[in-house]
Amino acid sequence: MSLAEIQARIYKAEAKAGRPEGATQLIAVSKVQPNDRVDAVLAEGHRLFGENKVQEAAGKWPGLQERYPDATVHLLGPLQTNKARQAMQLFSAIHSLDRPKLANTLARLAQDLGQCPDLFIQVNTGEEDQKAGVLPKEADGFIAECRSLDLPIVGLMCIPPVNEEASLHFALLRKIAARNEIAGLSMGMSGDFEKAIAQGATHVRVGSAIFGARDYG
Ligand SMILES: *Cc1c(COP(=O)(O)O)cnc(C)c1O
Repeated sequence: MSLAEIQARIYKAEAKAGRPEGATQLIAVSKVQPNDRVDAVLAEGHRLFGENKVQEAAGKWPGLQERYPDATVHLLGPLQTNKARQAMQLFSAIHSLDRPKLANTLARLAQDLGQCPDLFIQVNTGEEDQKAGVLPKEADGFIAECRSLDLPIVGLMCIPPVNEEASLHFALLRKIAARNEIAGLSMGMSGDFEKAIAQGATHVRVGSAIFGARDYG
């Protein structure tokens, strides 16, 4: 599907949910995609992208940003503390803040660098062992801890379990955000972004529906 088609579906979902056009930002998830596909989406005028790995983004985006200086990239995947400094310099937002150790490291580096990307706290809404994120019952405490470190918490992020109704997880994330007065909701991927918009997503993360299947070969 083309970028324009996805954007049209986003507008339609916003209208259906009674939300203003443009209430949801589209993050084009370019991880693993060949540069010519990413280039094509840049050439169409899109400027907001998502990557999963610091190393991959570091090899790819500085070059692209020479030609498209206003392109911005968000980190969506897990972040190791030893890559935090590099991540803070590469990304305009990090969606995977998920533990106290990382929060402390980011706070220290923010002092050092005099700046900090926008931060989303990842919540493991499905309480899955293999997934990153704070548990729903730990979220309020962790949010308070991050705020006491002066970290710029702009949103919450979740990745629902594959075999469950995504809307329930989006609704849970929205509830946690509302009671903590957090405005941003990073939720919804290729298969469920319209449901996420219905539940109030401010950022949807769409990869394969825009770029085609990822070839991990
Ligand atoms: C890969 C990825 C996406 C995009 O997934 P698609 O199903 O290709 O849209 C979104 N969010 C995260 C965290 C991802 O890792």
